[in-house]
Amino acid sequence: MFESKPPSSAGRKGWSLDTLLGRTAEPAAVAPAAPVAPAILHEPAPTTDLFTRIGGFLKAQRLDPTPVNYDLAYQYLGGNDPALVIAVDAAIARDGILRPDVAEEITQEAANQVSSELVEKLIDQAHQSMTLAASLVGQSRTDAKAYGSALDKGAAAMDAGGESATRALGLMVELTRTMIDKTQDAERRLAEMGSQMESLQDDLAEAQAVAESDPLTGLANRRAFQSRLARAMAQAAAEGTPLSVAFCDIDHFKSINDNHGHDTGDRILKMVADALSEGAGEDAYVGRFGGEEFLILFDGIMARRAAMRVDEIRDELSGRHLVSKTTGEPLGTVTFSAGVAQLLPGEGDGEMLRRADEALYNAKNSGRNRVIIHGED
Ligand code: GH3
Ligand code: MG
Ligand code: MG
Repeated sequence: MFESKPPSSAGRKGWSLDTLLGRTAEPAAVAPAAPVAPAILHEPAPTTDLFTRIGGFLKAQRLDPTPVNYDLAYQYLGGNDPALVIAVDAAIARDGILRPDVAEEITQEAANQVSSELVEKLIDQAHQSMTLAASLVGQSRTDAKAYGSALDKGAAAMDAGGESATRALGLMVELTRTMIDKTQDAERRLAEMGSQMESLQDDLAEAQAVAESDPLTGLANRRAFQSRLARAMAQAAAEGTPLSVAFCDIDHFKSINDNHGHDTGDRILKMVADALSEGAGEDAYVGRFGGEEFLILFDGIMARRAAMRVDEIRDELSGRHLVSKTTGEPLGTVTFSAGVAQLLPGEGDGEMLRRADEALYNAKNSGRNRVIIHGED
């Protein structure tokens, strides 16, 4: 269940902040969703080839021709992102075909990669603006100082009286005008910079949210969960406080998809995600690990109490009699199994998650729809 994916180092050139935030149309050269027929006929041979190959790839993998799948095929066949190519090849070697849910996972992973690069870029931009603003303020200070000493000189000349006093007065008026202009200019530029910084901050927050959340359920994605877990573990180790994790996996989810369709499966994933978020408590942090697997971080909480909370959610969920929203047909009940592990002294996050996964495996093997604490089965 824990495969370490190779680090995805290559940037994906076809993306931009605007595409990521959905603010403008897809870049023209990449626009996979565009109607194919007439425009493509006039494209030079390699592009035509690529579009034909994209079509062939989607057909061979029995993937729907959605814009997301087009983009994935484009990235895969274009070979711009080696990590994506490796992931697709590995999935095909493993499953014989690129399954839609795996395709979605790979796309998500690649998008996360882009987002984190984007966040770095935005931080860099913000830093540059700050440096500029600081230098502007510094310049204004220097100007003000020069103005101050010029005024002093002028005042001394006026004290002397006569013609030089008249000249000094004219000079001071001019100086004052220049200084007012300069101040106004600096103010205007600072105000402009302020609003630029504000919109940059909004973009940054938005990009960060995209980078950290799972689009289907709105929960933290695996990457966000793991970085939160690492932070919490370091603190728990330093302070000697307890920390537990629960690994939850929906039972027989494949048959839900098979019997009622992928869309119903998606709605059930969202329902389970909501049940976990609501039931885990305000002090817990819930993430989607991938597919129909969820993780809950119980910071400051011992395994027993964590398991009790998870079991309450399990119990409540298993008592719901679900009905399809679209067809009205009964869907029966949905259950999940969970494994809980408490952090041991000196243990790393991989080892603790592995123990939670082991307990989950035991919960599955002993009949599903149950919660087992590692070491207590
Ligand atoms: P078990 O009780 O042993 O966990 O059985 P299972 O059927 O739940 O487990 P299995 O790993 O065989 O199947 C998981 C299924 O979850 C297969 C996959 O198609 C589906 N799945 C993964 N991600 C998604 C998704 O985002 N949406 C939908 N609808 N299905 C998904
Ligand atoms: Mg599973
Ligand atoms: Mg399952």
